[in-house]
Amino acid sequence: MRRLSIKTPAGQLDYRITRRNRVKKRMHMELDAAGELVIVAPGHWSERQVGRVLRQNVSRVERFLLRARARQVPALQYCDGEKHLFLGKSYPMVIKGCGHRRSGVEFAGGEFLVEMAKNNSVEVHELLKKWYKQQAQQVFAQRLQVISARTDWVGDRQPTLRLRRMKRTWGNCSISGEIKLNTHLIKAPLSVIDSVIAHELCHLVEMNHGKAFYALLENLNPAWKEDRKKLVSEGYQYLR
Ligand SMILES: [Zn+2]
Repeated sequence: MRRLSIKTPAGQLDYRITRRNRVKKRMHMELDAAGELVIVAPGHWSERQVGRVLRQNVSRVERFLLRARARQVPALQYCDGEKHLFLGKSYPMVIKGCGHRRSGVEFAGGEFLVEMAKNNSVEVHELLKKWYKQQAQQVFAQRLQVISARTDWVGDRQPTLRLRRMKRTWGNCSISGEIKLNTHLIKAPLSVIDSVIAHELCHLVEMNHGKAFYALLENLNPAWKEDRKKLVSEGYQYLR
């Protein structure tokens, strides 16, 4: 299968096409074993036709890749010694045996220290989730303030920030001016978090991804393409 690509706002998207006779009307997306995008198209579709549909659906394709790649990686075990992400780096988890009266996670000396009454992976997962959420609340609120100050449209009206664990998107911005960020982003490097925040702040002015939107974003965050590429290629690791 020939490797093809289309240009996207952040770079390029590589794919291959396979044709199956039973696919009659619409194309669909699959991942191969290496996590690369395969387009399954109706037999009579040309490469150009596939390319056109992909160009019209770039964000949908990116969301598909994110979700499908996240499903492809082995599940985390939440056991002693396993590595977990925080602000773009990976750190080992040290589970401090049983018998502790207080349960919780502490991040110190480049390790996640997990103290708990009873060592089981479900509980470790819950504690870590809670810890990530606390960190996300602090870090995102602070970065939102810093980046808002660089705009000339936010002023004193700081947007409301909400956090949610999402499976396909990193953030969104409502018409009422509320910014929702994916809690999982706390595992990404700070520059990537900043970039998502900058993106959503631009939506306060421009709701669509048109030329005016990208001009605004380019001005607020000239590094947005690099960060977006990183999110597209590595983001699935943050979703676990
Ligand atoms: Zn957007």
